[in-house]
Amino acid sequence: MQTDTCDTDFDALALTEEQARERVLTASTPVAGSERCLLTAALGRVLAAPIAAPFDVPPHRNSAMDGYALRASDQSPDTPLRIVGRSFAGHPFDAPVRAGECVQIMTGAVVPAGADTVVQQELTTVDGNALHLQRTLKQGANIRHPGEDLRRGQSVLEPGRLLTAADLGLLASLGLGEVDVLRLPRVAFFSTGDELRGIGETLGEGDIYDSNRYILHALLQRIGVDSVDLGRIPDRRDAVYAALDDASAQADVIITTGGASVGAADYVAHALRDLGEAEFWKIAIKPGRPLNFGRIGAALFFGLPGNPVSVMATFALFAAPCLRRLRGESVRPYRRLHATTRDALKKTPGRTDFQRGILHTEPDGSLSVSSTGLQGSHVLSSMSQADCFIRLPREAGPVAAGSTVDVVPFADLF
Ligand code: AMP
Ligand code: MG
Repeated sequence: MQTDTCDTDFDALALTEEQARERVLTASTPVAGSERCLLTAALGRVLAAPIAAPFDVPPHRNSAMDGYALRASDQSPDTPLRIVGRSFAGHPFDAPVRAGECVQIMTGAVVPAGADTVVQQELTTVDGNALHLQRTLKQGANIRHPGEDLRRGQSVLEPGRLLTAADLGLLASLGLGEVDVLRLPRVAFFSTGDELRGIGETLGEGDIYDSNRYILHALLQRIGVDSVDLGRIPDRRDAVYAALDDASAQADVIITTGGASVGAADYVAHALRDLGEAEFWKIAIKPGRPLNFGRIGAALFFGLPGNPVSVMATFALFAAPCLRRLRGESVRPYRRLHATTRDALKKTPGRTDFQRGILHTEPDGSLSVSSTGLQGSHVLSSMSQADCFIRLPREAGPVAAGSTVDVVPFADLF
């Protein structure tokens, strides 16, 4: 990696990415209040109360194999055992197995009293109701014991747990059809810009379709919050005021895009300062340098930039950790992987750069990354092609092909 000393982009007043995120997280606390939720709606929700096992799992001694349940001490290659019945899953054999006897058994079926071993079918031959054993097994073979998975009273899941498919199965195995989960944070969002048109409208000279609102809708859906779309707001002071007022009355978090800078038609920062407590941050990152962060009433506020790529980057780096914390999740730093860049990368020292990349696995198992090409913050197609950010440190200059770089998989961010 070489550093270009002539051309730099340092700003002494700019916060680092980490400082900005720390400030956001300091202001973010989990929402209060929980609700009952059906298991079928609980994926990705955050558990509000601890779960203990109400009984042993599995509840009964059962077979791990299809085969024959018998007494280990009866096993002999010479003397066959008499098959006296069957224990199938859901249909137990309801008598004890006595000396010289065995019971045909299926996986998951109750092991009858008296039996202490299951011999799998493959190790046996059957002649009428006589069972011949090809080998002898150790006592207890192929038997699953009650409580082997979970003991009655044992803690199963702790509050703060982000429920996964396996967790939901676990809760179902305990006979629980509903769980207490934290309420979802409510997020109101809108885009600003006189040039924005809705899908279906005709574009006039200089107009564009509003893509940010669809991006935000999807990003919020992915994180799992209750979102309220307040539409497109024109670049007028009164309109931005009214929309922020409306949003703060109903939301835990407000997110806007556009109008966030210091341009003549940028009203978001002004409105925020008048209505709440505002902080205008220059963050030493690219894309997405300016970010308005603050509070209006009880709601936290993120004024994201207008360019779609900047929206996605600032959302992932700052808004998403806030929303995750509000949801009750524990927020961990995103993972950084090392990869060899296939392309030379343009970079000016001064800002941490999040370039769009595509990850590849090389034949030797190592990772490499290619650039999506044009890196302008308006080039949304680059974001759509990419599956990772190439994260270049603040002080770095241009990067030569073949260098090792940090990459952040989108799967960890979006
Ligand atoms: P602004 O921050 O409002 O100056 O916007 C910066 C750039 O982002 C301009 O080129 C805007 O046209 C563009 N932009 C702003 N909002 C949106 C949006 N909702 N969808 C697509 N592009 C937008
Ligand atoms: Mg604008």
